Amino acid sequence: MRKIPFFNSRSHVKRSGYSRRRQNRGGQLLPYIILVSILVVLLIIAAWLYLHNDTSEDTALSSAASASQLENPDETASGISLSPETQTDETEAPEGSLQYYLEQASLLAAGYDYDLAIQLLQMCPYASSEEATAAIAEYSTIKETLVRVDPYKVTHVFFHTLIMDTSKAFDGDSREKGYNQVMTTKDEFMKILQSMYDRGFVLVRLHDLAYEVTDEDGTVHFEEGNIMLPPGKQAFVMSQDDVCYYEYMEGDGFASRMIVGEDGRPTCEMKMDDGSVAVGSYDLVPLLDDFIEEHPDFSYRGARAVIAFTGYNGILGYRTAPSYNTEEYLAEHPGFDYEKEREEAAKVAQCLKDSGYELASHSWGHRNMGEISMENFITDTDKWENEVETLIGPCDIILFPFGSDIGDWHPYDTSSERFQYLHSKGFRYFCNVDSTRYFVQIGDDYLRQGRRNLDGYRMYYDLPESGVGGDHLSDLFDVNEVFDRSRPTPVPKMSE
Ligand SMILES: [Zn+2]
Repeated sequence: MRKIPFFNSRSHVKRSGYSRRRQNRGGQLLPYIILVSILVVLLIIAAWLYLHNDTSEDTALSSAASASQLENPDETASGISLSPETQTDETEAPEGSLQYYLEQASLLAAGYDYDLAIQLLQMCPYASSEEATAAIAEYSTIKETLVRVDPYKVTHVFFHTLIMDTSKAFDGDSREKGYNQVMTTKDEFMKILQSMYDRGFVLVRLHDLAYEVTDEDGTVHFEEGNIMLPPGKQAFVMSQDDVCYYEYMEGDGFASRMIVGEDGRPTCEMKMDDGSVAVGSYDLVPLLDDFIEEHPDFSYRGARAVIAFTGYNGILGYRTAPSYNTEEYLAEHPGFDYEKEREEAAKVAQCLKDSGYELASHSWGHRNMGEISMENFITDTDKWENEVETLIGPCDIILFPFGSDIGDWHPYDTSSERFQYLHSKGFRYFCNVDSTRYFVQIGDDYLRQGRRNLDGYRMYYDLPESGVGGDHLSDLFDVNEVFDRSRPTPVPKMSE
């Protein structure tokens, strides 16, 4: 079946089935908005044809053909099936004015999708209006200036769960040292976002750097992506580890779990001192979404961060591990509903994917995947597959815990037992921790990237007052301005 031109222009046509499915499910809301716009256009055309009693069967047939394609869920970027009822609902919206199309196009252009912005205006009923013509000309001019991003020069920064209340995280208890070393405070995170935005950084997906393609003869291999940005802009990837809201973190100033907010977007719950539960932007995901809503040009075509989970405590603050499905746990936690926990966790995971987030494994048991025995390696990988992938759907990214890896810095020996095992489980993207600006390897069947920890440890030892004189962050932000002075100092060394 013929593809809708709009989606050909933005999806990687040669993408393998696996990656294509991921891309579709991991898509953002924009394609859906566009889809609705196309429907509006088609209905207007249909109405016009009807009113003008146009007998041109060809036109009517091709409109109908397009409409039936739109009903095919396979053709929708968001995977949302458009039944006749929902079509009616969506087209009831007052949108459809020239202003509406101009705004949608402007939003697409802000996210660097000039092709789609231009196509939308060219297809809209006001294509020949002065405003639409001017906007098309403007986007075409900008498009000519775009520069291809070298995928080997894309930095990757990562965080853990953000500290919302420093007085609780840094209260002198046994966990303070660990939080101080590997966590980032909300204040620091917001300053980092602002600085990176001001310096022209643009968030891209890990899958934008390179992806699997299938040749006509069936050969599967990795191909570099073509990220196109205006001159002066730099692409970067962001990830967040251990988004599980572990049991041990309770009462230490973090969110307690992620939920789907009333607006359908991911948000967080946090337990307050008075025992109430507040809903709001209490961690990276909603904070990043808020920031991008205000600064749409911080995100390339709807890109968001990579969110990684272990399995042993469950994911996203839901107690989904089988160890919670016991008489004992239920006796201690009356009202706990294991099946409901799994259901809710799966809903939030889907909401994250629909919002543009990529989901990843962080191993099941937070293991050093390069050092544990092969037997434990297999057990851990299988547990993650059985307990977590069953909640979040097919996953091809692994972010190794402890900065471990399954090989040294040389390109992977893809015949190695560990690589082969992870590859057989669908993993294609592998990330370690590396403080250099760029560490990207694109093999024939994998992409590997180093990630930079933007945490208390890294920031403190980059501060002049630490006396160490590190310089790992100056391309991203001024550590003097970002480092949260409510941290206990000196931040203990990692070996202490
Ligand atoms: Zn971790």
